[in-house]
Amino acid sequence: MEFSFSVKISPYCSSVLSRLGAAASEDSSVSDVFSALNRQCTPSVAEETVLSCELDDPFGESVHAVTKKLIRQYKNRCLLKVTDNCFSHCRFCPYRGTEKSEDSPFITAEDLSEACAFLEGHPEINEIIIAGGDPLSASDEQLASVFEAVRKVRPGILIRLRTRAPVSAPERISRETLALFRRFRPFWIVPQIHHPAEIAARWAPEAQKCLLSIVDAGIPVQTETQLLRGVNDAVPVLAELYTLLVHLGVKPGFLYQPGLAKGTGHFRVPLAEGLKIYNKLKNELSDLSLPVYALELPGGGGLVNIPATRFAREGDTWKYTDASGKSWFYPV
Ligand code: SF4
Repeated sequence: MEFSFSVKISPYCSSVLSRLGAAASEDSSVSDVFSALNRQCTPSVAEETVLSCELDDPFGESVHAVTKKLIRQYKNRCLLKVTDNCFSHCRFCPYRGTEKSEDSPFITAEDLSEACAFLEGHPEINEIIIAGGDPLSASDEQLASVFEAVRKVRPGILIRLRTRAPVSAPERISRETLALFRRFRPFWIVPQIHHPAEIAARWAPEAQKCLLSIVDAGIPVQTETQLLRGVNDAVPVLAELYTLLVHLGVKPGFLYQPGLAKGTGHFRVPLAEGLKIYNKLKNELSDLSLPVYALELPGGGGLVNIPATRFAREGDTWKYTDASGKSWFYPV
């Protein structure tokens, strides 16, 4: 079948799925684990159903773009998109298949210079999030050129790099890459990890080793996790993931209520159900291992901490009213 959104599975993800698939054929208790990881990278016909609430730009990046590649939604931090490429196309992601080609270009010198000029004129911005696509799909040399350009205009700015590489392509993070991260400290890695099997010694020892190597190199690591139907929408799965992360020396960061990317309704857990899961999770985990449960308000309303805020039910949507009195909507 032809899918509207492009399909790409990294060799490493394929190898982990093969391991799990072989084990599942002999032990049915592994089937759920296989299915959880497979669902993240193998397309389904459900993606062809696009709901009216789903958006081309669910995070409102176009609303907050201050240069071609720099997005500023908050006073103190900006996001720089350095590539459209990814190792795998995660089926729940709005950026799956936005690559123009397999060798979609890295940020141009002109776009980087425009972003740096903006940063230079805004000293109140003290963090830059390097994002994509997956920034680590670019080479160390390409990334070094971005880090150097940013630090030249803003010597003290903190760099955060968002990536799926530890679980999609752990071989990408070499000793030289770790040295690059260390060279540009203060530097944080923010890996997106959704299921304990993605970093389990039994199924993905390379991914676990990769995370440990980043921690051992002295680079702080804080995760992001999407709450995904059929992947991790169960308290025991999330508890296992977060317990394993802290044992590896990694801080669980955010658990995100999924956004409104097109053709992803089959991944969305209703907000009320997500809250129930999170409230139960609180009883299973310590403060250290509990992530923050949050939602990016659709269309560019920003990140809000769900348990600390009030969402009012209005018909078939949840209405969130921000500090300025503006309303934002999320489907029930
Ligand atoms: S941007 Fe990140 S989450 Fe989206 S497809 Fe690429 S690697 Fe996956």
